[in-house]
Amino acid sequence: MAYVVTQNCCNDASCVAACPVGCIHPTPDEPGFGTAEMLYIDSATCIDCGACADACPVDAIVPDTEFTADYSAMNALYYQTNPMTPTWQYRTSTSLVTTDRPGLRVAIVGSGPAAQYAAKELLAQPGVEVHMFERLPVPFGLIRHGVAPDHPATKAVADQFAWTRDQERRFHLHLNVEIGTHLDHAELLAHHHAVLYAYGAASNRRLEVRGERLPGSLSAFDFVGWYNGHPDHADALPDLSGPRAIVVGNGNVALDVARILATEPERLSTTDIADHAYARLRRSRIEEVVVLGRRGPVEAAFTTPELHALAQRPDIDVIVDPADLEGVAEPPDPIVRQKLDLLTGLARAGRTRGNRRIVLRFHTSVREIVGEHCVTDVHVVRHGLPEVIETSLLIGSIGFRGTPIRGVPFDAANGTIPHDRGRVIRPTTGLPATGVYAAGWIKRGPTGVIGTNRTCANETVAALIEDYLEGRLADPPAGRGELVQLLHRRRPAALDRDGWAAIDAAERSAGMADGRPRRKFYRTEDMLSAARPPRRLLRLLTR
Ligand code: NAP
Repeated sequence: MAYVVTQNCCNDASCVAACPVGCIHPTPDEPGFGTAEMLYIDSATCIDCGACADACPVDAIVPDTEFTADYSAMNALYYQTNPMTPTWQYRTSTSLVTTDRPGLRVAIVGSGPAAQYAAKELLAQPGVEVHMFERLPVPFGLIRHGVAPDHPATKAVADQFAWTRDQERRFHLHLNVEIGTHLDHAELLAHHHAVLYAYGAASNRRLEVRGERLPGSLSAFDFVGWYNGHPDHADALPDLSGPRAIVVGNGNVALDVARILATEPERLSTTDIADHAYARLRRSRIEEVVVLGRRGPVEAAFTTPELHALAQRPDIDVIVDPADLEGVAEPPDPIVRQKLDLLTGLARAGRTRGNRRIVLRFHTSVREIVGEHCVTDVHVVRHGLPEVIETSLLIGSIGFRGTPIRGVPFDAANGTIPHDRGRVIRPTTGLPATGVYAAGWIKRGPTGVIGTNRTCANETVAALIEDYLEGRLADPPAGRGELVQLLHRRRPAALDRDGWAAIDAAERSAGMADGRPRRKFYRTEDMLSAARPPRRLLRLLTR
């Protein structure tokens, strides 16, 4: 028997470090890691010890059985083109902060996966103190507001961000504090040796076609935020009254959006989907979701494991037009070949009566979104020919974009912070801005899965610690006490870890009655009032 990596793989490479025989690849220091759809176990080398399964934060690694045959094949395919070499070597740790110069204080802006991985790596070093700033009253960014509600195993990645007692004393969470509004970049630098920006991509790319702003046309950024209870998107209110929705773009976000629209609402009843979205989806009349890819099937942006999982759903028919596959040359990469094989199988599959449908269309580009008061039709060009598709809902899922923070270098063309291995670069001089770092989507753009942020954050932390040890980071003029006072003056409504603990407990307990992991608050005011009572109670109790 051997172990096998399955669909949930988050690529954070915890398994790679745990494996005693080095049979999980690509490793973070190998070419291809940054673009790998998942990690793969070489069954011939695996010694069946299970260390990888224990280390995996999202339960993606299981023993191979007949039920995992497809994944065993996926794992094996990787090694056809990437045979094992006996010289593997992978070490995870960055250099340690020595006791010669203790007391490194770092501000992290953002609280999503990249911010959390950076904090984890920093707090693993003795004497490092981390202050994490988050705009919302709740932490975890993409893990809470991006991962689809029917992917609970992926959300479990957040469980690893629990600190030991000693680390807890060195970790300070400041929620409901927006950098650029309540505190600015210069103030953060004045109170910390370094500021690490990891606030993700806070906007979306636009289609830039006529009719994009009509009611009935929205972005996946809005739609995903809406069903995941992000307070900024609580009022997105997608029109689910027609029989068809169109999703433009065919990345994994597009598949998430299409799947949520096509899912029988009852299946979502035990998830943490936002209540208001669940109620609206229950009244949905959508029967068909058409996903438009502008390029061909081989170039489709969705990953093979996500397509495979979708194809397994008994309640959804996934439909592919055989004409889209005609004349497609066999791709040399076996992983892409597997994607094509899956699509070929879907093109031959029959339909199940009563199922909702996801139609994957390729070589189709949107030219115009049409309607007098709201969307009624979408004009497309398919295989070079014009076509009109009737719809009342169009969701653009063509990627995200980072937004700037005043005083921090920003590359407006790419929507990212310019950097060299995590050190932020001033575009005017091409030199690093002292004490300023970036990690995650704001550093590399919106690519990779949740765990990709671990390697990305570790690279940044390694640069930061190297700068500190080399004496390139000056001691900040102001200390922690002054920071706390400043925060108190500027943002009395800030929440700390206790505030989040109260919100978390309230959400979990509200969900328990219905067998759900939590019932999310999706209004800021509700989050804030859930955070307050226990703190008042605590003050009374300790008086
Ligand atoms: P993505 O994978 O980059 O896909 C973007 C899609 O938009 C592509 O199909 C792209 O087509 C298309 N597109 C871009 N500009 C367009 C335009 N002007 N007109 C029409 N189509 C356009 O981005 P994403 O789906 O937003 O995902 C972001 C990252 O999160 C990805 O790394 C993804 O894997 C990850 N993610 C993972 C999961 C999961 O593992 N379950 C779930 C969600 C997201 P072209 O390919 O032709 O450029």
